Amino acid sequence: MVNNIPKLFGTSGIRGKFQEDVTIKLALDVSRALAKYIGGKGKKVVIGRDTRTSGKIMEHVMTAGLEECGCDVLLLGMVPTPVVGYATLKKHADAGIMITASHNPSPYTGIKLWNSDGLAYKQEQERTIEKIVYGQDFELVSWDELGTEYDISSFKDEYIKDIIKISEVDPEKPLKVVVDCANGAGSYLSPEALRKSGMDVITLNSQPDGFFPGRNPEPNSENLQELMKTVKALGADVGLAHDGDADRMIAIDENGNISDFDKLLTVIAKEFGGTVVTTVDASACLDTAMEKIGGNVLRTPVGDVHVAESINKNNATFGGEPSGTWLHPDFCMCPDGLLSGLRIVRAIQKNGKLSKQLDDIENYPTIREKVVCPNDKKQTVMNEVNKNFEKEFEDIKEILKIDGLRLSFNDGSWVLIRPSGTEPYVRITAEGKTQEHLDIIEEKSKNFLNKII
Ligand code: MG
Repeated sequence: MVNNIPKLFGTSGIRGKFQEDVTIKLALDVSRALAKYIGGKGKKVVIGRDTRTSGKIMEHVMTAGLEECGCDVLLLGMVPTPVVGYATLKKHADAGIMITASHNPSPYTGIKLWNSDGLAYKQEQERTIEKIVYGQDFELVSWDELGTEYDISSFKDEYIKDIIKISEVDPEKPLKVVVDCANGAGSYLSPEALRKSGMDVITLNSQPDGFFPGRNPEPNSENLQELMKTVKALGADVGLAHDGDADRMIAIDENGNISDFDKLLTVIAKEFGGTVVTTVDASACLDTAMEKIGGNVLRTPVGDVHVAESINKNNATFGGEPSGTWLHPDFCMCPDGLLSGLRIVRAIQKNGKLSKQLDDIENYPTIREKVVCPNDKKQTVMNEVNKNFEKEFEDIKEILKIDGLRLSFNDGSWVLIRPSGTEPYVRITAEGKTQEHLDIIEEKSKNFLNKII
């Protein structure tokens, strides 16, 4: 077997342009490799897909690959990613496959794999699948042992019922909610969950369409202008926006302003209390808020899989990335944008206006800078950063080397130096408890990097 095989999986599964990077042959091989990995004949695999034009073809070919290796396939059809995670758990399947390219534009597709407990595949597991694919080491069965496919699309109803129940949204306090599904996998189900919770729902871009005619599926302020205007014009209580596969959610407050992503995460983390998990690049506003209520924050490398693993290991109550990818361990370990939306609704019902809740969270001056660094120099630069950068400071409270280098200081300020995964940059992210402290951190960071690059 080849050891130095190229990676197929990135930070969130396999992702690339359909037919250019992600071919039919690759999809077939990944499904055959998955079948072998989980034990082949008699095993069960759940498959769901987003609204992309290539989704059904990918589903057909992966179904074929699994069945020719003796696995049964449970087909959900077009569903948000969290439905795949939850169905894999509840149907006692041996694995789940979500065919999605999340927030990427229409020409892209992707494959994300799920464990029987609803947790995304870890890196080691993805590595094993890659090895089987590169070795073409499959175990096909004979004609009389082929797997069978079953339609489990009605499972969506069970999922909707269960997220509504766990969210504890009060149907007696209806809010006016505008939801923007980006013509993606949240279309139908996210509005349905809100309506069945008793909310007054207005939809935008909620007809499934793989061309994403309404907006780009990345939920950011540039793409959510229409939603912001609609919330304001209709006097709605809140706007909710999903990405292409609805594992993410971003909220717009009642004034039509997009919420600060870190503050939005903090609003919900506070509702849970206890130990919460986030990534190295998240704001210290979460730490401050959690400390106030006697809770604490753990940090992981960037990526929802790392957050999920840490939640599991540390028995955390909640976790998420500032991108709006939140995990609700009281429900399932798959990031869930629909449940996140319901939880925002519940928080507004309980605590009042979203703008006020966001304003109550402390704000710190922040910088996000990038310093040009050729890809082949990144490793040397990061070695030097890991070895000597801390010597620039005297008030360090904690050093984290799990994903780049993150130094936090006694007053709660912090800096993260991290190489970009895809571009020729090293990024500096820093937050100061005061502008003066931030200026010092920024200057020292830039000087240090300029000296060694
Ligand atoms: Mg996504």
